[in-house]
Amino acid sequence: MPESLPPDLVDLRDRVQAFIDDDLRPLDDALGDDANAPVPSETRQRVRERSRELGFFGMTQPKAFGGSQAGPLALTVVRETLAAANLRVAGGVFGPGPGVLGAAEGDLRERYLEPLLRGEKRGAWAFTEPGDAPRPTWAKRDGDDLLVTGRKAYVSGGADADFYSVLVNVEEDGAGAGGTAMVVVDRELPGLTIERAFESMEGGGHVELAFDAVRVPQARVVGRIGEGMPRALGNIGQMRLGMAAQATGLSMWVTEYVERHITQPHRSGTRLGDREGVRLHYGDLRIGTFAARATLYRAARLAEAASKPEDALNEGMAAKVFCTEHAGRAVDTAVQLVGGAALIKGHPLERLYRQVRSMRIAEGASDILRLNIARGRIEFDAGRL
Ligand SMILES: Cc1cc2nc3c(=O)[nH]c(=O)nc-3n(C[C@H](O)[C@H](O)[C@H](O)COP(=O)(O)OP(=O)(O)OC[C@H]3O[C@@H](n4cnc5c(N)ncnc54)[C@H](O)[C@@H]3O)c2cc1C
Repeated sequence: MPESLPPDLVDLRDRVQAFIDDDLRPLDDALGDDANAPVPSETRQRVRERSRELGFFGMTQPKAFGGSQAGPLALTVVRETLAAANLRVAGGVFGPGPGVLGAAEGDLRERYLEPLLRGEKRGAWAFTEPGDAPRPTWAKRDGDDLLVTGRKAYVSGGADADFYSVLVNVEEDGAGAGGTAMVVVDRELPGLTIERAFESMEGGGHVELAFDAVRVPQARVVGRIGEGMPRALGNIGQMRLGMAAQATGLSMWVTEYVERHITQPHRSGTRLGDREGVRLHYGDLRIGTFAARATLYRAARLAEAASKPEDALNEGMAAKVFCTEHAGRAVDTAVQLVGGAALIKGHPLERLYRQVRSMRIAEGASDILRLNIARGRIEFDAGRL
């Protein structure tokens, strides 16, 4: 639970809060009242520099590459505290993580992982298939190469990426067994096209990719053929816990926002918070946020104690579903209690409404995760209560 953190994590939380109060909040205030105001690149740069100086930037980066790789619990503390401040400028606090390239060796490490962590190259994650795909993206061996064919949808940051980490199904043939593989594909390779670029409602930019027999050296497979899906799942587990932390921090911000709103004078002459019906909604908000924090920290502790990511996979999914669904209800309640002003474009709740809605789909749609949790228990005897 957040109140039984060891002293070093309490100190970490205090340091994040000081970073927010001394650096991030003034930069955020300078953007003005419009919650959708773009963050200028100089501000992003300033956040990155200050985060580096204070030691937060490297927390998502391995020690072998000069980072300070923090564990799941420490990252949860930082992510939740940052989200509870609901700042537009918080995007640059963490440096790029290795993602699925974490175990890359040799050429893959030098050409992609190291420049990625130094911020010299950008990568994007291509996992999701379009709804109308006739078959999942596949690859067949051709000498030392793979020929990759298919399509990928919703590749976030794909328009600016130098390379994509693509999940493919390699066909079995005389040269070897088939199976899923994570392949690094350069953006400029012949046969790879960006079919469509679009923005989603929370402000993210994505592309849809088409691969037409794109020739990729087999040396660009991360690990071995057959390891693609486990590697993808290992990576996604951390992302889900991160999203649960973000959703919970935002729920904390919303709860405090509602409290301020309902305890201020209202034109009716009676504070909204003095009405029983409003108190019931506010009470529910507090109960849900309390439960979300309890869920988040339990999942983070289990992830911290796990010897391999699979040991806390089910709990990470449970936390992601619970915390993001609560955040959705919390923002919806807040919009209702604040009224029409919350619907005006640029209001912080208008922005949050769009932001938290996407969280129930990104990194695994809620219902799919529910099915996975049920399957984990019924078919693999995995998962705790
Ligand atoms: C903001 C954002 C960023 C994203 N970034 C990336 C990215 O960088 N890379 C990437 O690869 N993907 C990315 N995605 C894609 C994301 O992972 C998918 O949208 C998500 O996994 C759901 O897949 P889908 O959209 O194809 O929906 P579908 O799989 O078609 O599911 C749609 C709905 O159908 C229902 N459903 C589907 N199957 C079942 C079932 N078996 N039983 C019951 N109900 C079911 C559920 O209600 C589900 O929500 C991103 C998505 C968003 C919103």
